[in-house]
Amino acid sequence: MEAWRRILADSIVKPKDLAERLGVDAKEIEAIVGDYPMRITPAVMATIKKKGDAIWKQVVPDIAEMDDFEAEDDPLEEDLMSPVPHLVHRYPDRVLLMVTNQCPIYCRFCTRKRLVGKPGFLKKGELDQAIAYLREHTEVRDVILSGGDPLLLPDHLLERILKALRTIPHLELIRLGSRVPGTLPERITPELCAIVKKYHPIYMNLHFNHPDELTPEVKTACGMLADAGVPLGAQTVLLKGVNDDPEIMKRLMHQLLLARIKPYYLYQADLTKGTNHFRTMVETGLNIIKSLQGHTSGMAVPHFVIDAPGGGGKIPLLPGDYMVHMDEDGAVLRNYENKTFHYPQPKAGGGHELPMVGTRSSDDGSAEAFASCGDSYPDRDGYAAWGNSCGGDVDEL
Ligand code: SF4
Repeated sequence: MEAWRRILADSIVKPKDLAERLGVDAKEIEAIVGDYPMRITPAVMATIKKKGDAIWKQVVPDIAEMDDFEAEDDPLEEDLMSPVPHLVHRYPDRVLLMVTNQCPIYCRFCTRKRLVGKPGFLKKGELDQAIAYLREHTEVRDVILSGGDPLLLPDHLLERILKALRTIPHLELIRLGSRVPGTLPERITPELCAIVKKYHPIYMNLHFNHPDELTPEVKTACGMLADAGVPLGAQTVLLKGVNDDPEIMKRLMHQLLLARIKPYYLYQADLTKGTNHFRTMVETGLNIIKSLQGHTSGMAVPHFVIDAPGGGGKIPLLPGDYMVHMDEDGAVLRNYENKTFHYPQPKAGGGHELPMVGTRSSDDGSAEAFASCGDSYPDRDGYAAWGNSCGGDVDEL
């Protein structure tokens, strides 16, 4: 047996073992795990520092999961958008393919609580059905392998899937959504990296919610994937008591970049049954974005999105005060320092006049009387403003 499988087998799955390790009430845990299974890998167990901390909350079953009567099992209506088993086709050119329902840990806030960790998932022939659907649907250029966690599949099965997908000529991108590098880093082996390298372009969206998850072992695992040519992105779920704090979130984003992972999405928690106790106000996420935007490098700012209930898909949200006003003359914009700027619209007829950009304090809230300067002049910090050039923005210097 491969080493990572032995390590996974050492995970905590039984209430009595959890009670011994963490001093919880085994009977209470028993009442939850029948509906919503538990698994905590040794790597994750080692990062729990005290009762109720950010890691504990994500993996230790909470009786609040059983008090959530009104929410739906499937608020995103994935099951209704599934033309063949385990494949969700919601957006025009991309699909989600759930290749397993096994995960290294069972996150207590998971959107797919209805599926993960339960017996009997992928039946014989279902994978072939999904591949046949993709072959027929030439509009699909991007497939996201998810679950559960595709990196829990054995190497030979993962390779079989990747190989089959690469026989579909119109399929350009393969993405994998995974929590494995952050929770079972031993799974990232040279053999796995060698497989992945054969089927590029492969992207991975990893899942991290708290800076304490970025241990040296986890960073090494992520580095192996990056060295194998896999662009790494991170998805983060905004969770009450875990990361609903601007300072924690900033530390997380910085740690991700150090691990060669680009922060990608910050999700507002879904309305999934059994997860209501993790939900925050929408303003919490907006304030976090405001605390990052302009205050740290743009690379560290994820897109804040709500996956709309009822199958509406991801809707991006930005704090409302960046755009003060816009009309046919131009846009009045507010920056991270609460200063306002005017960006003129191009004149009808497509002239090449220089945009007039000016600054003033927003104290009086008015959008008039801007000091003007060309966009090649130094801005208030003394840096040249390069606009949309490939040289990057000033905040990335
Ligand atoms: S690893 Fe992902 S799919 Fe699995 S339980 Fe956690 S959030 Fe859900």
